[in-house]
Amino acid sequence: MPAKELSPIEIYQILPRTNCKECGEANCMAFAAKLVVREAMLDECKPLLEPGKEDDYNKLWALLKPAVKAVEVGVGDHKVTLGGEYVLYRHEFTYFHQPAVAVDVSDEMSPEEFELRVNVVNDFSYEYIGMQLKLDMLAVRSTSGDPDTFAAAVKKAIGLTEKPLILCTHDPEAMRKGLDAAYGRRPLIYAATKDNWKEMAELALQYECPVVASSPQDRDTLKSIAHTLEEYGLSDIVLDPGTEPNKYMTANLDNYIILRWQSINEEEEHLGYPILGLPLVAWTVEEEDTIINEWNEAVIAGICIARFTDAMIVHGISGWALLPQVFLRSNIYTDPRKPVAVEPELAAFGEPTDMSPVLLTTNFALTYYTVASDVESAKLDCYILVVDSEGMSVESAVAGRKMTADTVAEAIAQFKVGDKVQHRHLVIPGRAARLSGEIQELSGWTVSVGPMDSSGIPKFLDEKWTPSPED
Ligand code: SF4
Repeated sequence: MPAKELSPIEIYQILPRTNCKECGEANCMAFAAKLVVREAMLDECKPLLEPGKEDDYNKLWALLKPAVKAVEVGVGDHKVTLGGEYVLYRHEFTYFHQPAVAVDVSDEMSPEEFELRVNVVNDFSYEYIGMQLKLDMLAVRSTSGDPDTFAAAVKKAIGLTEKPLILCTHDPEAMRKGLDAAYGRRPLIYAATKDNWKEMAELALQYECPVVASSPQDRDTLKSIAHTLEEYGLSDIVLDPGTEPNKYMTANLDNYIILRWQSINEEEEHLGYPILGLPLVAWTVEEEDTIINEWNEAVIAGICIARFTDAMIVHGISGWALLPQVFLRSNIYTDPRKPVAVEPELAAFGEPTDMSPVLLTTNFALTYYTVASDVESAKLDCYILVVDSEGMSVESAVAGRKMTADTVAEAIAQFKVGDKVQHRHLVIPGRAARLSGEIQELSGWTVSVGPMDSSGIPKFLDEKWTPSPED
C-alpha cells in the first residue's frame, strides 16, 4: 500500500497505546504520525517487540513495509540499500534510496587498469550544494571463465576497496570461489537464471548474500525465478529484467516501468524487489569511437535513474559521463517534502576585514551555493548573511513572506553582524529590492540593492562598494 494512503489513526489503533515514551515520542499518536511519514522505525517501539505482540507487529509491518523491499549490500559504513521505495513517482510521497552506481572490473584486466578503476570508485567525489556525490559499488566480472582467476580478482578487489561488491558470473563454481574470497562482505550475487537458480540459491543461503534474479526480456520467467527463490527461503532479491543497447531503449523503459508499476500499483509481491540496470551493454556495440559507447552508456544510465532502477553497473569512468549521472540521481532523489537548505549563519569568505561587504541571501541550498561559488571564484573578501527562509529561494521567499524585513533585521542581530564590521551597510539581492526600505527602517542599516543575479556581485562591488565607518 502506498504510504500516502495511511493515516496515523489507522496505525495508532494497533500500537500498544500505553504512551510509555520508550520510543522517544510524547505518546503513541505522535509515534504513529512519524511512522506514517517514515520518520520513525517500527522497531523503536520496544513494547511491540515483546512476546505476545507478534500479531500486532506483523499487522503494522504489513501496513508500513515498502512496496519495493529494501535490500542491503555490503557491510559497515559503506553498505548500500537498494529499493525500499513506496511510490511510483517522487511527488506522490518521496523516494528513499538513490540508485547505487557500480563500476565494473574484470578478472582479465591488467593490474594497472584494475587498480585505476577501483580507485575511481573509491575517490570519485564532487561537492554539489552541500552534498558529496560519490560512486557506490564495484562489480567484479568473470570474463576469463576460470573460477580461480575470478576468485583472485575478487580477493584483489577486497584488498583495494571497502565499497560493496557485485560478483558477476553465471558459473556456480566460480561464484562459490568468489564468495569465499569475499567472505564477510555480503556481496550481491549476479546472477540466478532459469538454468542455475538452484545452485545460486544454495550459495545465497549458505553465504547469507542477496542475489539477482536474471531473465533478460522475459518478465514471466523473471517472476517465476523470483518466486522460486522466495520458496527456497530467500528474501533479499534484486531483479534483472535485462538492459538493451540504445537502439532498443523502449524495451528497457517497458521493462522498468511495468515491473515497478506491478510491484507498487498492483502489489505484485513476487516483483516487489529492487531493479538492476546494466548501462554497460552500450559497450557491446561496435562504434567508430569509444566516446560514442560512453555517451550511449550515459544515456541508458540516465533512463535507468529516471525510471526506477535501484542499482546499475557502468563501464565508462570519464568524469563527463559519471557527473551527469550522480547529478541527476541526487536531484530526483531529494525529498520533495523538505527543501534542500543550509544552516542560517554569517559566513566569512576570503579574509574579510571590518570594512568588507556584507551580502544577504537565503538558506535555500542552491541559492546559497550559487552565491558562494560566485564570491569564491571572484576571490572576494566578504561576509554572506544567510537568512532562514525555510529553504526558499530569494524571489519565492520574498513573495511567500518567508524572508521579510523583520527576519533580516533579526538575523543581523542574531549573528552579531555589527560586531564584525565597522560600517552599517547591507547589500541585498536584486530580487529582494522591494524589502529595501523596510529593512533600512527596521535594522537601521543602509541598504543597497545588488544585482539580480549573483554573477554580477563582483562588478557591483567593484563599482559601488564605497562605505565608510560613518555609513
Ligand atoms: S514506545 Fe510504543 S507504546 Fe510506548 S509511547 Fe512509543 S509507540 Fe507508544
